[in-house]
Amino acid sequence: MDDPALRRYAVDDGATDEQFLAAAKLYAREVVDRHDLAVDVSDLEWSVSKRAKRRAGAVKHRDGDPESVVLTWDHFAAQGWEAAAATVRHELIHVHLLAEEGDATHGAAFEALAAELDAPLHCERFTDPKWWVVCEDCDARIARYRRSKLVEQPEQYRCRDCGGRFRVEEAA
Ligand SMILES: [Zn+2]
Ligand SMILES: [Zn+2]
Repeated sequence: MDDPALRRYAVDDGATDEQFLAAAKLYAREVVDRHDLAVDVSDLEWSVSKRAKRRAGAVKHRDGDPESVVLTWDHFAAQGWEAAAATVRHELIHVHLLAEEGDATHGAAFEALAAELDAPLHCERFTDPKWWVVCEDCDARIARYRRSKLVEQPEQYRCRDCGGRFRVEEAA
């Protein structure tokens, strides 16, 4: 998609949180104007999550009222501004549908707008796991994103599928 706003506000991961959020908001305003979305960008709280690992972004809402947009830093750092901008479009669709219809799903209305905005259909899972817990017997593999008892003490557990023992591999 030819999207001049995308280039105009591009930032890289040398940006501070504030610079990244400022760029995201400026970009969001253009998307909202261009597609006539029921979104007041300034009315929303925008923040960066440095902890989120498994989703690119999120909209928080209370009783169906959209309140804030959270963007995941690691997603931006790993995949760049274009991917972050795609996430902004995805989250704006959520905000719009929440405001208009109290709809927080990725249903038909979401799909139609996602096609119009060229936005990803899913709240993307993007992070590779840090560890794989592998069954020695059946090769079942369990992804782990943070240090847990299973990662620390795999000998205390057995494979649910076959009862085999686990080993832990650090993901490359
Ligand atoms: Zn979503
Ligand atoms: Zn097994």
